[in-house]
Amino acid sequence: MPPSLTSRALGSIWGVCVGDALGGPVQFMDPGAFEPITGLEYVQPFQQPAGSYSDDGSMTLALAQSIIDSHGQYNHALSIQYFVDWFTTGRFSTIDRAWDVGASTRSALQSWRKRGTSDLQRVQDVINQKLDVEQSSGNGSLMRIAPIGLALWRDPGEARRVAREQSRVTHPVLGCLEACEVYTLLICGVLSGMLFSFFFWFDFVFFAFYPLVLVWGFHVCLRFSL
Ligand SMILES: [Mg+2]
Repeated sequence: MPPSLTSRALGSIWGVCVGDALGGPVQFMDPGAFEPITGLEYVQPFQQPAGSYSDDGSMTLALAQSIIDSHGQYNHALSIQYFVDWFTTGRFSTIDRAWDVGASTRSALQSWRKRGTSDLQRVQDVINQKLDVEQSSGNGSLMRIAPIGLALWRDPGEARRVAREQSRVTHPVLGCLEACEVYTLLICGVLSGMLFSFFFWFDFVFFAFYPLVLVWGFHVCLRFSL
């Protein structure tokens, strides 16, 4: 029996936290410079116990909670407030403070904390001025964006728009907006079953006709004495 929608949505959130905790111990290391990861280990770069998730997991939980507290609707101001809560008090973190806070996220959340969310566009303009530059195109918004697709998968158009809006909170660079939009669209596709159908039929057609393609290729090689 395929997993339920709830199970897949929860798995997506758990997946962020578990993946974050698995990768934390080798963060900042070059590929190939460490043994393959086979389990949860002490998060050396931040001196945190094995199993600790960092900003990726915390901000994903904050965004998910803001949607839960808004009865399944995206609430831009509340998501910002919960990010600021994480940043200032450690809410949603594994300990009583935020850790592994990226440079762009720190800069943006300092602006939101200082100026509040009563005039969203004015604060966003300030953040855009500071962070809409190539050097600030990190993965800080992509790593937390999963809840948008999980909440809005039935309306992919709206999900794509919201993904871009949500990225701007800390990462307004075009590349970050696009990455969040594409990833959200993928999640929408997975939850609706569309991607499964696509890959199923792609595999079916590919393997069904693969022998014919081989025979045809062999024939071409013979004909032109290749
Ligand atoms: Mg992190």
